[in-house]
Amino acid sequence: MTKPLRKDLENIPLYVPGKALPEALKLSSNEVPYGPLPGVPEAIAAAVGEVHRYPDLAVVRLRDALAERLGVDAERIAAGTGSVALIGHLMQAVADPGCDVVYSWRSFEAYPIAATVAGLRSVQVPNTADHRHDIAAMIKAVGPDTRAVIVCSPNNPTGQAVTAAELDELFDAVDPSVLVVIDEAYREFVTDPAAPDAVERYADRPNAVVFRTFSKAWGLAGLRAGYLIGSPEVAAAVSKCVIPFAVNVLAQTAALAALEAEEEMRRRVALVVAERERMLAAAREFVPDIPDSQANFFWLPLGERTVPFAAHCQEQGILVRPFDDDGVRVTLGRPEDDDRMLEAIRSFKEA
Ligand SMILES: *Cc1c(COP(=O)(O)O)cnc(C)c1O
Repeated sequence: MTKPLRKDLENIPLYVPGKALPEALKLSSNEVPYGPLPGVPEAIAAAVGEVHRYPDLAVVRLRDALAERLGVDAERIAAGTGSVALIGHLMQAVADPGCDVVYSWRSFEAYPIAATVAGLRSVQVPNTADHRHDIAAMIKAVGPDTRAVIVCSPNNPTGQAVTAAELDELFDAVDPSVLVVIDEAYREFVTDPAAPDAVERYADRPNAVVFRTFSKAWGLAGLRAGYLIGSPEVAAAVSKCVIPFAVNVLAQTAALAALEAEEEMRRRVALVVAERERMLAAAREFVPDIPDSQANFFWLPLGERTVPFAAHCQEQGILVRPFDDDGVRVTLGRPEDDDRMLEAIRSFKEA
């Protein structure tokens, strides 16, 4: 009997949930460890009485608030259930048969999945030896059927950001009919002045699309809210692909409350950045080739020792994120969490 299911979905690995270890120190999902921002739980509690109503389909209040902060028209913003979902919707919006999307590899695991589901061919361009996007090779990989090039900056999971010079080169090289998608999920953690704010620098380009999220620095991963800034045409096309009423009542309310707590968000980000500097210096004593990070995580290029290291961490009650025989992504936590992590690295290396 032939199955009624699409053959290409067989290439997407089924998500296997990690072992439920309620006691474990979770440094595997790039969350900020300090809880919801002040005002957010209260705003959610106040909105609970509205959950029998449909949310605002057009997400007007949140898009208006974002538009004002970012200095762009609200019609250029599309919102969705996290930027992961929205990246998938963008791919659906550009996926004519036979078209492709170019992105670096290794990069965010959601890209190949979203591309396949949308029916786009993936063109993966290997990172440089020092785990950065190879922008020159990505430019070369753009062909007549390419609809979009995705730049993940800082790159999940390797941590490095793309510079303004590199992005300028990319924008100048590709035809304006190709979208240049910049995934800035970790923008708030960037301190390197060479790495641009893509909204400030490129928002006026009609083929620029910038993704941002409330899941990381803004502490709302569990509620699912993300957005993009693009041309009015791109934002409208993506919005047509978004599942109706995607951003729910509580998520919209919580995101607005989080924006009001920006100062505290910045304070927490500064703590994470201080930990980043401390941890990179300390961990490099054991793993010298750890690349720079501009995000709230760092990359341990352990090659074939990746899986044994993740198992070692689990024995110590710490969850990290291993990627095949490539490396391990470690999320920065509180100072005491990071001390435990450092001890796990030390005991693994000295075993
Ligand atoms: C975490 C992350 C996102 C955001 O995901 P949400 O769906 O908004 O939670 C987007 N891109 C990258 C690269 C990420 O690591």
